[in-house]
Amino acid sequence: MSNRFQTKQIQDLDAQHHLHPFSDHQSLRAGQNVRVIVKGEGPYVIDSEGHRILDGMAGLWTTNIGYGNKELAQAAYDQMVELPFYNTFFKTTHPPVVALSRKLAEIAPAHINQVFFGSSGSESNDTAIRLIRHYWALKGEPKRRIIISRKNAYHGSTIAAGSMGGMSHVHQHSYPVYEGFRHVMDPYWYGDSFPGETPEAFGLRAARAIDEEILRCGPENVAAFAGEPVQGAGGVKIAPSTYWPEVQRIVDKYGILLLADEVITGFGRVGTWFASEFYGIRPNLITFAKAATSGYIPLSGVLVDDKIVEALMSTDDDFNHGYTFSGHPVACAVALKNLEIMERDRLVPKVKETTGPALAKLFARFKDHPLVGEVRTVGMLGAIELVADKKTRKRFDDPGRVGLICRDHFFREGFIMRAVYDTMVCAPPLTWTDAQFEEAGAVIQKALDQTLADVSGELAA
Ligand code: PMP
Repeated sequence: MSNRFQTKQIQDLDAQHHLHPFSDHQSLRAGQNVRVIVKGEGPYVIDSEGHRILDGMAGLWTTNIGYGNKELAQAAYDQMVELPFYNTFFKTTHPPVVALSRKLAEIAPAHINQVFFGSSGSESNDTAIRLIRHYWALKGEPKRRIIISRKNAYHGSTIAAGSMGGMSHVHQHSYPVYEGFRHVMDPYWYGDSFPGETPEAFGLRAARAIDEEILRCGPENVAAFAGEPVQGAGGVKIAPSTYWPEVQRIVDKYGILLLADEVITGFGRVGTWFASEFYGIRPNLITFAKAATSGYIPLSGVLVDDKIVEALMSTDDDFNHGYTFSGHPVACAVALKNLEIMERDRLVPKVKETTGPALAKLFARFKDHPLVGEVRTVGMLGAIELVADKKTRKRFDDPGRVGLICRDHFFREGFIMRAVYDTMVCAPPLTWTDAQFEEAGAVIQKALDQTLADVSGELAA
């Protein structure tokens, strides 16, 4: 397309025919031209004007092995020629879905050995919601329907996953939000702690909000707790060390299920295959998507533990749920190759040993910048929070405005970070080398300084 149309023509056609996700459609069509990305090469994307941009967001928390990998393209081609599609309904299967299921069981926590596939993270969370409720019905406790999750969580855009998520602007479009979901505080120490409260004390308080909600609902009505090990789209909120052990203790105490949404944190992002391992939790279900194929083709799923599978096997009734593309052969072949490459290139241990520490070191350089309230990282996930007053943590008026100014400076300087309100978040491909960390460091410095120049009048004296 880029060869046939000039950038402007593409932008005009885009405005005429393409409804973008999560967008303000008025300003998209009011001369705020979209950027046209035409190519990806390793850690870079290239736009239609020829700018090479270092992609600090791995597409959308997705391209863990970077762009332009021909091995994945070959795996897709080979599988398309062999068997481009067959369904997995009606007692059929095919080699790629079996091989991938086995591989996922190998890298998942030991008590998890089975997987149900879909194509998107939203679908995988819908599957998990149904499985959770079906599980309790099979166990003779159909009243247990409530799933507790957290404010600012993002679990997807379907009506069920959107209801489980805790973002009010997502809820806005589902009238009404599905019943049976409750939202408690998220473990956001920088934003929500009391003056003088340590991260450890705050982590316990945030976890105990779950306990309090369970008691409010009546424990006999609660089916599960769901959370992202690190809240991603909510602003890369990294829980204090006390949080997840306390959450595990609470779900164990009440015997409710634990769903870890690892759509962002799965596949090495924090230095273990799944972040559940990193945080020492034992989820009954893990949802995944995005980086399973490094984004080269859609594939998602739910990893399901032995306890739930046993319940499923206790009846000869159908579990009436599935997608045409559950276990799509081409997607499975690409995922398998992607996991093979990640293993061969040691990308996951490298997050623990080199790339994760390098990101932490890089971000630490900016913690004293006048605009920066907090920097935080875990593995290859990071956030730089911009504030009007470092001392009091006072935010800028009109949340999101300064984040967008900053994001535009980043883009212009050739580096993509996403703005979540006024928090700049980052999730680079796991393949970054010293060269990319250096390049990113130079741009971050410039973009923060340029943003500071734009808003210096608003900073506390
Ligand atoms: N869960 C989490 C934690 C996510 O970050 C996302 C997407 N950003 C989803 C679920 C939904 O995934 P999808 O967009 O593939 O439906």
